[in-house]
Amino acid sequence: MLAVEKVHTLHIARPQADQFRLAALHRYHILDTPACEDFSFLTELATKVCEVPYAFISLVDADRVWIKSCSGMQMGELPRGESYCSLAVLGDAATEIPDLSADPRTAHMTLTVGEPHMRMYSSVALTSSDGHAIGTLCVMDTKPGRLSDDQRATLAKLARQVMALIELRSNERNLEAAVRELELLATTDELTGLHNRRSLLHRLKFEVARSRRFRAPLSALMIDIDHFKKINDEYGHVVGDHVLANVGRLLRENVRVIDMPSRYGGEELCVILPNTPVEGACKLAETLRAKIEAQLHAAGARQFRITASIGVGSFNHMEIDDAEGLLKQADDALYRAKRAGRNRVECGSD
Ligand code: GH3
Ligand code: MG
Ligand code: MG
Repeated sequence: MLAVEKVHTLHIARPQADQFRLAALHRYHILDTPACEDFSFLTELATKVCEVPYAFISLVDADRVWIKSCSGMQMGELPRGESYCSLAVLGDAATEIPDLSADPRTAHMTLTVGEPHMRMYSSVALTSSDGHAIGTLCVMDTKPGRLSDDQRATLAKLARQVMALIELRSNERNLEAAVRELELLATTDELTGLHNRRSLLHRLKFEVARSRRFRAPLSALMIDIDHFKKINDEYGHVVGDHVLANVGRLLRENVRVIDMPSRYGGEELCVILPNTPVEGACKLAETLRAKIEAQLHAAGARQFRITASIGVGSFNHMEIDDAEGLLKQADDALYRAKRAGRNRVECGSD
C-alpha cells in the first residue's frame, strides 16, 4: 500500500513522469474503444472478490480518466481532477484510501460529496510492459474500510489479467493493421498507386461472377500510352516513370469508387467498370482519353503532353464469357485503335 505522504510527493512531480506514462498509455490505442465483455467480466469479478458494490478499469489520460469498464454504475469518463485514480497512478503498486471524506485530496471530489458518496477506495496500478502506470483496477465502497490482505492480493492478480487483456487487444490491433498494410502492398502497384495485375485479375473473376448472377453488364478499358518508348528516349526513364504516375493519378481521380483502375503491365493500364454497358464505357474512355491528352507533364523546365489509345471490352449478362474473354476484347479494340492512328478509342468486338 502506498502511504498518503508518498502519493502527495509523487503528485508534485507529476508533469515530467506523466509525459512518459501518457506515451505508454497511448501506445495501447485502447482509449475510447467500445465496451467489451472480457473487461466487464474482470470488474464484476473484482466486486465479488472484494465484496464491494463498485469496480472500475480506469485509464488516466492527460485531462480525463476514461473508464474502460465499470461494475455497479454507468460511467464513461471523469475529469482528471475528479478521479481518485489520477492520484493512484502516480504510485507504483497499490493505493488504498480507507475514508475518502477524511482525506484532503479526495474529500472535495464529486463522487465523495455527491452520489453515491464513496468512502473506501482501493486500487492496483495497471502497469505497461515498459513499467508505466497507465491506469488502475480499482474497487470502491460507500462504507469506509480496508480490503483484507487476501482481497488485495487477488485484486493485484486481477489487475495483471486486465493488463494482459489490454496487451492482447493491442497486439491483435497491431496484427490486423500489419495484415492490412501487407494486403495493400501485395495488391498495389508502387509507381502508379493503382491496383496491380494480380489484384485486377482477382477482382475481375469476382466481377464476372457477379455480372452473371445479377444480370448486370460489365466493361473493361485497356489503355496504352502512345509512343512511350520515345518519351523515355527523349526525357529519360525517370521522367517516364513520372508520366506513368501522373496518368495513374488521373485514372484514380476520374473513375467511380466501384471502378477498378489498375496497372496491367509496363505502360498499359486497365480499368474494370462493373455494372457498365458498352455505351457508358465508351463515353468514359473518351473522357479519359481527352484528359490524358490535356494533362501536362514536366521534364525539368520543359512541359509536354502525351496521348493514349484505349480499347473497350464489354459484356452484357446474356453473352458473358469469362475474364480472359473480356480482356481479349478490350485488347483487340486497343490494337485497332493503335492501327487506326493512336490517340483514339475503339469499342467492343469488330
Ligand atoms: P505504342 O504507341 O505502340 O504503344 O508505342 P510504345 O512505344 O508506347 O510501345 P512499346 O510497347 O513498344 O513500348 C513501351 C515502352 O514502355 C517500352 C518500355 O521501356 C516502357 N515502359 C514500360 N514500363 C515502364 C516503366 O515502368 N517506366 C518507364 N519509364 N517506362 C516503361
Ligand atoms: Mg505504348
Ligand atoms: Mg504497350
